[in-house]
Amino acid sequence: MAFETELLDCSPESIEKAAELIKHGEVVGMPTETVYGLAANAYDNEAVAKIFKAKGRPADNPLIVHISGLSQLGGIVSEIPQLALSCAKAFWSGPLTMILPKHPDIPYITSGGLDTVGVRMPSHPAAKALIEKSGVPLAAPSANLSGSPSPTTAAHVMADMRSRIPAVIDGGECEAGVESTVIAFGQNSIRILRPGRITREMLLTVCPDVEIDSGVLHEVDNSRPVASPGMKYKHYSPAADVIIVSGSAEQFLYYVKNNLTDDTLCLIFDESDLGDLDIPHILLGHSGEQQAHNLFAALRDADKLGAKTVFARCPERTGVGLAVYNRLIRAAGFKVVEL
Ligand code: AMP
Ligand code: MG
Repeated sequence: MAFETELLDCSPESIEKAAELIKHGEVVGMPTETVYGLAANAYDNEAVAKIFKAKGRPADNPLIVHISGLSQLGGIVSEIPQLALSCAKAFWSGPLTMILPKHPDIPYITSGGLDTVGVRMPSHPAAKALIEKSGVPLAAPSANLSGSPSPTTAAHVMADMRSRIPAVIDGGECEAGVESTVIAFGQNSIRILRPGRITREMLLTVCPDVEIDSGVLHEVDNSRPVASPGMKYKHYSPAADVIIVSGSAEQFLYYVKNNLTDDTLCLIFDESDLGDLDIPHILLGHSGEQQAHNLFAALRDADKLGAKTVFARCPERTGVGLAVYNRLIRAAGFKVVEL
């Protein structure tokens, strides 16, 4: 079915309209503080199937269930360890997803066939209001076509989802710009399956044992089961060929000058990174937070500007920078030039 996709604002009337669509088993584009999500009733098999269809998402890639209050947790997970409660207290509402044993009422289509489910409480007021008005937890993956960069504005969602879903709520630019941190629990430990705005350093304030899964920094072996199924798919990719150039600003500039073509664009931290070289570029900013905020829009803009090759400066692998690096290596198909 082709929809005339409606762009809604965040007024109570618009949220009410979006909630009615959710109650009728439809899918709505929803702003969150991380990226835009494609939301549907997490308990409704058919509604969740529409999310997978709209995105072209592989069925074994699980969705995150979004809640607006802790009282909803009991109907989503079958067990809540003390450490999960401590994390909820410290970081919810906010960009942290916890993987916990699934409640039998959550359908396997939502959990990608797994006996665990990812759950988080978003802080964006429009997301909160939509969950509350819908009266159900909302399953919501990022609102991009599978494989393309995650959307951080309503215009990005429209570009990918126009005519595929009935409505998108425009909540402005997403603050974080990268998807939530995904964590799983050991006995008294935390494993980061996907880095995000809630950093390892922040999690260490709640638990002294925080490990980073090997899939965060390296390509996963597609023939083996992976802790975080999203990690195994080609991801976040613009049409342009992305190459990460790791080294100082001087080394970056030297590399770019020697490998430049007519269709090259650079993702840089600062104007000075390109010296006197006058070529198309997009600024990511200096801090991990700025880079996270700008990254996905930059990848989409690179395509719009007709770039065939994108040379990107390499983000720090600490703090929020780790999330930026994790997304960028996937956009680059793991092509990193170490200088
Ligand atoms: P997205 O909604 O696009 O941010 O993708 C959600 C990601 O969260 C998935 O691709 C997985 O990597 C991760 N995730 C969600 N649920 C689970 C789960 N039960 N176990 C492991 N990882 C999960
Ligand atoms: Mg996604």
